[in-house]
This record gives sequence, structure tokens and C-alpha cells, in this order.
Amino acid sequence: MLPAESIGRLGFRRWYERELIVGHGWLVACLLCVFALLALFEDLSYRTAGLGPLIVLVAAFAAGWIAWYTLHRYVQMLFRAQHLAECSICKRCGAYGRYRLVSATSVSMIVCCRNCGNEWKID
Ligand SMILES: [Zn+2]
Repeated sequence: MLPAESIGRLGFRRWYERELIVGHGWLVACLLCVFALLALFEDLSYRTAGLGPLIVLVAAFAAGWIAWYTLHRYVQMLFRAQHLAECSICKRCGAYGRYRLVSATSVSMIVCCRNCGNEWKID
């Protein structure tokens, strides 16, 4: 699904910048979860009696799942931004990311170059 509404509201360049900032925020969250996971595994001891080891194990599992999810979001956002960046060069004048949104569906956008008026479709 394309972020046509956001691109139409912000313009491609601002959308792209925000997408990269948010995407790298997901990467930082992933790294923090990996650090938490490693710290929890370091703290895990099966010699301790009671529910302590089980709680640590559940917390480690949660940290691992969140790390996986945040990594997935990071890669997804990065690939989408990269794909749209590659499609954002006007074939007539070569302007990068200088277009306005003409129309959009859930899978494609028709955009118009701000420099030369060339229209093209982004899937
Ligand atoms: Zn152009």
C-alpha cells in the first residue's frame, strides 16, 4: 500500500525524510531490545528456585519478539522508501522528488512534475 495521503500532504522529499527518521527509530528500538535480550539471558539462571527463571525467560522471549517486529518494520519502511525514491525521478527533466500528487489508488499514484508538468505513474 502506498503512502499517497502522506506524500500528497507533505511532498515527497519531506515524506522521505520523515520515513527514514522513523525507520531508523525502529532500528534503534530493535537494538535496544537485542541488548535487553542479551542482558536477560546473562541474568538467567536455572539454579534459582521459584518463578524467577521463568519470568526472566518470558521477558527474554518478549524482548526477542519485539526485536524481530521492530527489525521487520525497519526493513519494510526502508525498502518502501527506497522503491519510491527510485520511482521519483522525472523521466523528462530529471528532477528528483519534485512532484505533486494528481490521483492515487491503494496500489498506484499518478504524479505530476513541478518543473516540466510531466505525469507518470508510481506503483
Ligand atoms: Zn520534469
